[in-house]
Amino acid sequence: MRALCWMGVNDLQVNTVPDARIVNPHDVVLKVRLTTTCGSDLHLIDGYIPTMREGDVIGHEYMGEIVEVGPEATTFKVGDRVVVPSFLGCGACWYCEHDLYSLCDNTHPKPELAEPVLGYPPAAIPGYSHAFSGLAGSHAEYIRVPHGDVNCFHVPEDVTDEQALFLSDSVPTGWTGADFCDITEGDTIAVWGCGAVGLMAQRSALLQGAGRVIAIDRLPERLALAREKIGAETIDYSASDSVLEELREMTGGRGPDACIEAVGMEAHGTGPQYAYDRVKQALHLHTDRGSALREAAIAVRKGGILSVVGIYGVIDKFPFGVLTNKGITMRTSQQPGQRYMGRMLEHVQAGDLDPSFLITHRMPLEDAARGYEMFKKKQDGCLRAAFTP
Ligand SMILES: [Zn+2]
Ligand SMILES: [Zn+2]
Repeated sequence: MRALCWMGVNDLQVNTVPDARIVNPHDVVLKVRLTTTCGSDLHLIDGYIPTMREGDVIGHEYMGEIVEVGPEATTFKVGDRVVVPSFLGCGACWYCEHDLYSLCDNTHPKPELAEPVLGYPPAAIPGYSHAFSGLAGSHAEYIRVPHGDVNCFHVPEDVTDEQALFLSDSVPTGWTGADFCDITEGDTIAVWGCGAVGLMAQRSALLQGAGRVIAIDRLPERLALAREKIGAETIDYSASDSVLEELREMTGGRGPDACIEAVGMEAHGTGPQYAYDRVKQALHLHTDRGSALREAAIAVRKGGILSVVGIYGVIDKFPFGVLTNKGITMRTSQQPGQRYMGRMLEHVQAGDLDPSFLITHRMPLEDAARGYEMFKKKQDGCLRAAFTP
């Protein structure tokens, strides 16, 4: 089958690789109908995530059609159209039983690679280095899905492929970020980042009861999406003397009730702190740029919540005392999409959540390397490129 392979740092190629097949009796195999780029893939491509090997198939956001079911996968049949959350659960361990699917104890096939860094291995995610499973990713004609009964979700007839695609990752990641904010009716939520996850966090916050959502970014086309597609108020930080001051003014001097950080280690910022971070990261001194995270911690009101869905490795100069002295609760996780799938699908069907606008560029899988180039450089307003194998 054809697949987008990581061949080295900044070297992606579409190659012919071994076909996806049933390995364990509970597996299913999907024919991928749509798969999309993700900001966290850029960390693999740039070489910031170790344990990538030449030839690895990347991609973890996808939906498709079932073409093969293992003997112990009983819920689905060939021909079913399904979406799969990026992090795979087993459905039976303590974590899955507590709806913490992205912390599943059983799906990571190589826990020895994750344990030295994390203490305990997280759930497996395909196409995202050997430290996160080594499973072949979704930028391919076919993909094996372990524990098919737990991880596949029927896409209802009135939900399109393009809508379903984003229920694999961007929407549940944004939904998780908003859920962590414990929103009570009318709360003000500030969201750093207007990429796909940031926009979905903003929409999720409104659907969960926020009265106001304030979105912070610097790209005019993304800020326009936040206003027009989401219903957020916006701050362009590149044109602002002080985001903190603007937020204070917009919230009557108190600050947002919760802040969601949806940027991660790609954070772009301004000023000396940003330059320091950028140099350390470029020299591989193992710290990530954390300007958005620092700003969010300082902006949130006293006693508020800092919800982090951006992806970081190690950051330094994080003002930890801000959390203690302001009584801030910080929450973070990879998304347990299985937990939220029912509610997300209901909102899509009701018409108040339509993530399909996130696709700005559509192309065949054969052009995926070009798609990543556009996505990485944000060329032509690229928010997400979606590939059809
Ligand atoms: Zn992703
Ligand atoms: Zn589990």
